[in-house]
Amino acid sequence: MAYRPSRSRAPGGAAPTGPATLRRANLSLVLRELRDHTSLSRAEIAQATGLHRATVSNLMAELLERRLVREVGVEHVGAIGRPRRAVALHGAHVGALGMEINVDYIAVHGTDLSGRSLVERRLVHDAMGSGPDSAVRRLGLVAKEAVEAMRRAGAVPSGIVVAVPGLVDVTRGVVTLAPNLHWRDLPLAEQLSSILGPRSVPVRVDNDANLAALAEYTSGVAAGTPHLVYLTGEVGVGGGIISGGELLRGADGFSGEVGHLRVDPNGDRCGCGRIGCWETKVGLAALVRAAMPEQAYGLPGMPVPDPDERVADIARGLASGDRRMMTAVAQVGEWLGLGGSILANLFNPRVIVIGGYFASLAQWLLPHAQDQLRRLVVAAPAAQCRFVASTLGFGAASRGAASMVVNHIIDDPTILYSLPRPAP
Ligand SMILES: [Zn+2]
Repeated sequence: MAYRPSRSRAPGGAAPTGPATLRRANLSLVLRELRDHTSLSRAEIAQATGLHRATVSNLMAELLERRLVREVGVEHVGAIGRPRRAVALHGAHVGALGMEINVDYIAVHGTDLSGRSLVERRLVHDAMGSGPDSAVRRLGLVAKEAVEAMRRAGAVPSGIVVAVPGLVDVTRGVVTLAPNLHWRDLPLAEQLSSILGPRSVPVRVDNDANLAALAEYTSGVAAGTPHLVYLTGEVGVGGGIISGGELLRGADGFSGEVGHLRVDPNGDRCGCGRIGCWETKVGLAALVRAAMPEQAYGLPGMPVPDPDERVADIARGLASGDRRMMTAVAQVGEWLGLGGSILANLFNPRVIVIGGYFASLAQWLLPHAQDQLRRLVVAAPAAQCRFVASTLGFGAASRGAASMVVNHIIDDPTILYSLPRPAP
């Protein structure tokens, strides 16, 4: 299912503002059609885009030469139908690198233009304790290794998008505020670019929950659901909102900071400095504190374990009927439902996809969360909103980040023509 960029698409081709601009927009139209279908004939592309057959053939010649599409030979339509020459999206040599930095890990997902996975990694990394300088250096090293691994797999990355849990000024590539990383006004895109060197491909930065929502909409458990809310369940809790098939960004790109909805004026202090934010009730740190206080986050001298290990410990406890853990997970589930009901009342989504640790513990969390949702959503049961567990795991944001790179290429494939040549 395609992610539709927010800029409008003119029927029958783009609004002409110059021959080069028009050609670029038409190349993008053709690629977008091919992304949404396994293969298409030139006639089908002409019909779907409203472009002339001759124009499509001409554009196709350029895309074939650039190896962004490939001929898929003669297909027979039906048992006795006419043969049909089709083309499909190719670009196996074009890489898209998605990365994510979070409180306790760095994740990497590299694909080619068609979304085929080439590199997937997650490393434990204490971003909270290490400070921004060291975290950015580490991120740079991991990016270099990933670029090399993708080159060995035959694809040269054409862009990097980094997912960050916080407020991101997407235009400037600056992390305005990431409370759980203790980052403020960090020019991450610029710093990473300088680590990667002058031959580096463009680096962009975006919010992790927005990117994960995009991954859910394009390839997740509720793919194609046009009204969808995604919740990240990490130490921090963020939200990404797809409304009418579009990512909702708000005036400054800061929408979706749902982890900082105040749900309890008498609650605990949050990483953002405020009191009683939703993530102080449902974030992984809150669950660990209640379920296994001896392993709580932020205890002095404690190594940072992999988040999966912590969650697996809790899952084992729950499976064996540990009372303290059952109580903890029931409480978190109720708070999850309460916050979910605020989002359902605001955005009327068909599904709320829960990711991160929420998905790993879904079988214990969801009965409590769904109950609260039923009780608190004004339009229930007519609204038919339900929680579903993501199947993309901790890698959702890095996967969405790679999809975002692919979207940038499909929006303007000519950016590939001017990229620096890879070092020999
Ligand atoms: Zn907060």
